[in-house]
Amino acid sequence: MSSIADNLKAIRTTLHPGVELVAVSKFHTADAVMEAYRAGQRIFGESRVQELIPKAAALPADIRWHFIGHLQTNKVSQLIGYTAMIESVDSLRLLTCIDRESERRGVVTRVLMEVHVAQEETKSGFMPDELVSYFAQGGFNSLKATHICGIMGMASNTDNIDRINADFAEIARTFQRIRDAVPESALRGFDTLSMGMSTDYPLAIDHGANLVRIGTAIFGERQY
Ligand SMILES: *Cc1c(COP(=O)(O)O)cnc(C)c1O
Repeated sequence: MSSIADNLKAIRTTLHPGVELVAVSKFHTADAVMEAYRAGQRIFGESRVQELIPKAAALPADIRWHFIGHLQTNKVSQLIGYTAMIESVDSLRLLTCIDRESERRGVVTRVLMEVHVAQEETKSGFMPDELVSYFAQGGFNSLKATHICGIMGMASNTDNIDRINADFAEIARTFQRIRDAVPESALRGFDTLSMGMSTDYPLAIDHGANLVRIGTAIFGERQY
């Protein structure tokens, strides 16, 4: 079996400059994170609050933690302050909650809006049109302590490459529609398109992803 450091090195050679890598460490140990850290990795992704917080407390302070799972509003107050980015904002209720809590704590939270294009009903996120309207109507102007940096999406969980291509194309199109709908001066720093996982990230990059989230291809299979 290849080491975490070898896996990281192999993946990095396939990423163009400008594409950032989130090493998805959910369900993997702090030792595994440290191995990746020693190989130079600094951005890690976690999907559960109760896993991210103890890891963040135990591991080096210069790690940038990305939250990528479904976030319940009742967990927001615990999480604020620990993340470099919350990639999975899937409702306005959650966004409002993040904003309120961030303001209360005197921090600015960086987030991505999650867009839902995949076939699975179980996946969460905004429908593309809904998200474009939110931005076109300037909904983000009322945020006080939240910086929306872009969008995140997932392709359908399938071997059908045409389907995956269509999903990434739609996520990328949604990103572009938002940028076209809002003047750049009103939406500063909206530049992150997070899509692509272990099996499909090269395709996501072809569609313009500049942040990819890779777990299994770095750390191996997860033990749930
Ligand atoms: C688990 C997860 C990943 C990583 O998936 P792999 O297939 O292990 O690379 C990426 N994004 C999200 C949102 C995830 O939940």
